[in-house]
Amino acid sequence: MNAAERSSLAERFYTHRVDNQPPPLVPYDPYDTDLPLREALAREGGAWGEREVAAYGKQIGGELMEAGRLANENKPKLRQFDAYGQRIDEVEFHPAYHQLMAASVRHGVPSFAWRHADRSGAHVARAALSYLDYMADQGHCCPVTMTYASVPVIRQQPELAAAWLPRILSTDYDPRCLPAWEKTGNTIGMGMTEKQGGSDVRSNTTKAYPVGSRGPGKLYELVGHKWFYSAPMCDAHLVLAQTDGGLSCFLLPRYTPDGVLNAVRIQRLKDKLGDWSNASSEVEFCGAAAWMVGEEGRGVATILEMVSLTRQDCLIGSASLMRQALAQALHHARHRSAFGKRLVEQPLMKNVLADLALESEAAVALTMRVARAVDSSPRDAAERAFARIATAIAKYWVCKRAPAFVNEAQECLGGAGYVEESVLARLYRQAPLNSIWEGCGNIQCLDVLRALSREPATRDALFAELGMAAGGHPALDAAVARLAADYADTDSLESRCRALVERTALALQAVLLVRAGNQAVAAAFCESRLAGAYGMAFGTLPPTAPMDALIERALPA
Ligand SMILES: Cc1cc2nc3c(=O)[nH]c(=O)nc-3n(C[C@H](O)[C@H](O)[C@H](O)COP(=O)(O)OP(=O)(O)OC[C@H]3O[C@@H](n4cnc5c(N)ncnc54)[C@H](O)[C@@H]3O)c2cc1C
Repeated sequence: MNAAERSSLAERFYTHRVDNQPPPLVPYDPYDTDLPLREALAREGGAWGEREVAAYGKQIGGELMEAGRLANENKPKLRQFDAYGQRIDEVEFHPAYHQLMAASVRHGVPSFAWRHADRSGAHVARAALSYLDYMADQGHCCPVTMTYASVPVIRQQPELAAAWLPRILSTDYDPRCLPAWEKTGNTIGMGMTEKQGGSDVRSNTTKAYPVGSRGPGKLYELVGHKWFYSAPMCDAHLVLAQTDGGLSCFLLPRYTPDGVLNAVRIQRLKDKLGDWSNASSEVEFCGAAAWMVGEEGRGVATILEMVSLTRQDCLIGSASLMRQALAQALHHARHRSAFGKRLVEQPLMKNVLADLALESEAAVALTMRVARAVDSSPRDAAERAFARIATAIAKYWVCKRAPAFVNEAQECLGGAGYVEESVLARLYRQAPLNSIWEGCGNIQCLDVLRALSREPATRDALFAELGMAAGGHPALDAAVARLAADYADTDSLESRCRALVERTALALQAVLLVRAGNQAVAAAFCESRLAGAYGMAFGTLPPTAPMDALIERALPA
């Protein structure tokens, strides 16, 4: 071995050269490279917000991806007491978490839609911001989403709205443990789930006692617990508690007006499968001060809009997880070779990647359509009805697809997709969460039936949407006709409703793809998802599907 060979050996591993391994996919621009997202943003009326969305994409793909890794590797810690035994109930986060929160708030993820509420499409542009936000880290999106979703609830109590909304809609993130009014920006959480019941919130046992006079806007003391209370360092939570008049909604601040820490005792942080950067806690309310929001006994109705908006964000989050997993899989398959060809050139891998690309595009199309319906709700009754039913349908299906999707993307990376250095491991741990919180799958399906039976306008809005691509593909026409017949048959509807909701989601996705106008995408979707020749796993597209075109469209080489 000569000197040159020896010195070159010193730069390598002792026994081999590392090759046939892809370069890391950073930095990359998750907005610029996502054609289905860009098209959906424009299609659903959010194009005017593109400058903000594109700017955030650049930041997400740059330093914030690394912040996401750090925030998850360094989980939040609960500090219940100070050195002298005084309760402080603080959660300590890694600086990367605060960096993510600050970027998110600065770019308006919680506030953009409300600050631009006079412009049609504001919620659509915000959905794109939120979709990108989710890519860097999922955990911090929990308080960001809850802050966004709290606004219509707090508005129901004008004096609370006047005091709180300016700070909630601020673009300053202020992580200091101080009373809300001493801070430049506030975040808001939500506390409904108790030990004896989460889906069934009417079983809540937490009691609210009036301090003086009772009713909307009045002060109460809360005694009870919450079993899941995410982001306990938020400046306030919207919570449910029982009064003599029934289950009611309250705004419970972290500090009381005299500047003292409110009587909310954090018992412990949840030790979770994933979602590591987010602190989810169990709390006891030991006479905590809280103000009633909305009518006494109408707590569920009052908080419903928050629930509905956070469900929308579960949908956005799952579509985003899929997209991120897809980008990693495509990147890997383009750089890695096996058996003499790049993976992306192997016919079976091509089928898997094209199928994932199709699923991801359908997920983002449905997500952005729901965002438009949310956006149009205040102005348009039909859109309000569509938002009501489509949020539940889309949350059910897109969140349900995410774990299988991420696992398939993981498999495209082989063993590298299963180790912690790869973001896929984190995405896989995160993937099941969106279908659990804010109402599990069954609850979404039952909600679809409830909407159909109690609000006839939702059925009209749903079938009007399903009819919008009539004649676009024979399999879609047949699927819609079958859905009409199956919804009309009320026999064992509850037991059949998962299958029905799944088929409704697929038909809605097909309608959107047909109307979006890319024939190759729409036909591949209808033929695989609706025409019946499709397997249970990804990678079972018919061989006639335009796989190269689907892959190239998903992430330009
Ligand atoms: C990480 C994490 C963070 C969370 N953060 C918060 C938070 O900040 N605030 C908050 O309030 N909650 C929070 N939650 C709670 C979450 O919203 C609940 O776990 C969820 O709504 C389900 O409630 P549950 O756990 O009580 O399950 P259950 O209500 O007991 O449901 C268990 C199963 O039964 C099914 N089921 C229930 N009723 C029916 C029915 N009639 N027919 C058929 N099936 C049914 C459900 O679909 C589910 O699959 C969080 C949860 C997690 C995992």
